[in-house]
Formats: sequence, structure tokens, C-alpha cells
Amino acid sequence: MLSYRHAFHAGNHADVLKHFVMSLVLDYFNQKDKPYWVIDTHAGAGMYELDGDFSQKNAEFEKGIQRLFDSNQLPELLAEFVQTIQSFNEKSSLEFYPGSPKIAEYFLRTQDKLRLFELHPRDFELLANLFTHQGRQTKINMQDGFNGIKSCLPPPTNRAIILIDPPYELKEDYVRVVGCLKDSLKRFATGSYLIWYPLLPRPEPLQMIEQLKVLASGNWLDVTLSVKAQSQDGYGMFGSGMFVANPPWKMPKQLADTLPTLAKLLALDEKAHFTLNSQIS
Ligand code: SAM
Repeated sequence: MLSYRHAFHAGNHADVLKHFVMSLVLDYFNQKDKPYWVIDTHAGAGMYELDGDFSQKNAEFEKGIQRLFDSNQLPELLAEFVQTIQSFNEKSSLEFYPGSPKIAEYFLRTQDKLRLFELHPRDFELLANLFTHQGRQTKINMQDGFNGIKSCLPPPTNRAIILIDPPYELKEDYVRVVGCLKDSLKRFATGSYLIWYPLLPRPEPLQMIEQLKVLASGNWLDVTLSVKAQSQDGYGMFGSGMFVANPPWKMPKQLADTLPTLAKLLALDEKAHFTLNSQIS
């Protein structure tokens, strides 16, 4: 069952948190010349038109990236993130929002490589059209990312950023993420694994995080951004989180410096807040 289309959500609060964290990790990896791989197990379509039918349906970006664009008091790291998104737009207005593959490509140097997995036939086609120069640097697979990742680990460069970003429309995604991190750490213990998850009024997300913390034994960071109160009826996403196994050592301070502003900017009610926990050895 593949009903999820990321275009409905592009540029929303969850994308902002995910892509901001991802950008910090990419920037950190670029501080050394040594090549690295980016592996994106659930790549999506790669680029989203914000005035397209899908994005306009709920206009989620207006309460997400648009709020950062409209702010003139951003901390430096958030301002740099806005510049990254701006670089995909010709004018000063916001017409396009890049997905994780294009954000990765923005940071990649000639010596680095990108490995993308996307299972939805239409999103795969859109993604393939964006990367028509596929070659040694970029490879796109219409394959289950939880399985496909196995063929990429360990990467020959021994440095890699791995984004695991499933839709979680099926409960089994929570179980598969845990299995994927367990298997991946066995194959490649030192990669930086970035796992996005929704905050929902149900137990699966937080149960998953507890298991991920055990797997990442002593080297993890977990950041959440709630944009509103949990609904009384027990439905609906009220925020999201990013779990990072083997995070850059700088990351706790970078997020502590920026999350207060991000939580304020993306708030939908007075219950908006962030949490930040880490263990880095
Ligand atoms: N990572 C993208 C980004 O940040 O721009 C968004 C990805 S979206 C949340 C999840 C994507 O995973 C969807 O495009 C969906 O079609 C795809 N998908 C679902 N199950 C998959 C699987 N088992 N393997 C690969 N892709 C899958």
C-alpha cells in the first residue's frame, strides 16, 4: 500500500526540523576533505512546487518554511538554512521546496556519493527526472529502502550520513526502523543515522525511540518539536522528532541555540515546545 505522497506536506514544520538537522550534519561532514556517502532510504520526489495542487491543498508550508522566510531575526544557523532553501528559488519568493535528495546534493562535493531509494512509481519517476545525470555520483533505486540500504553498508569511504524517513502510515514502519538501525549498525557502526518520526497521541513513536537509544548505546541525540497541544480525540500529528545515532559532537549546542527560536516561530498554539536530549561519548 503506497498511498502516502510527500507533496501534500512539503515544507511543513516536520520538514523544517528534519532538513535543518540534516543540513547541520552535512555541513559538519564537509569540514573534512575525506569523501562520504549520503544514503536516503525513503527519498520522496526530490522537489516540490509550492503552488502546485498537492502543496496548495492544505498549504502546510505556510505554517512551516514560510514562517522562517518571513522572519528577519533568525539565529545564524537558521538563516543559513533559509539561504539553502532560497537557493532553489529564483526570486526572493518561495516557490519551490527541496526534498532530502536535493538538500543532500546541495552540500555534496565531487568526491561524495548519493544513494537514493524510493518505492512509489510516480515519485520515483519525478526523482529520476531530477537526477538525469545519474552516474557514479548518484544512484536511484525503485526498491524498498529498508532492504536496499544493506547493499550500501559499509560504504567504501567509511563515512556516511543515512537518512531513514518512512511515512509511518503502516505500524510496521516503527518495527522496521528499529530492525534497520540494528542491522545497519552491525554492518557499519560509525555512520551518522538520522531517523525522522512523528509525534502522535499513540505509543509507537516513543516506544521506537526507547529501542533506538539502546541500539545507539551512548552515542545519540533526540530532538522533538511539538507545534501544538495533543488533540483530545487521540488523532493527529502534533509535532515530530529527529533521532540521530552517532551525531556530530557540536550538534547539542547548535540545537540548544536555535530550537527556542524555531519552536516560537512554528508554534500553532501556546503548548508549542521542544525537547533536546543526548548522550555523546
Ligand atoms: N525523505 C523525503 C524528504 O525529506 O524530502 C520525504 C520522504 S516521505 C516522508 C516517505 C517516502 O517513502 C514516500 O515518498 C514513499 O513513497 C516512500 N516509501 C514508502 N515506503 C517505502 C519503502 N519501503 N522503501 C522506499 N521508499 C518508500
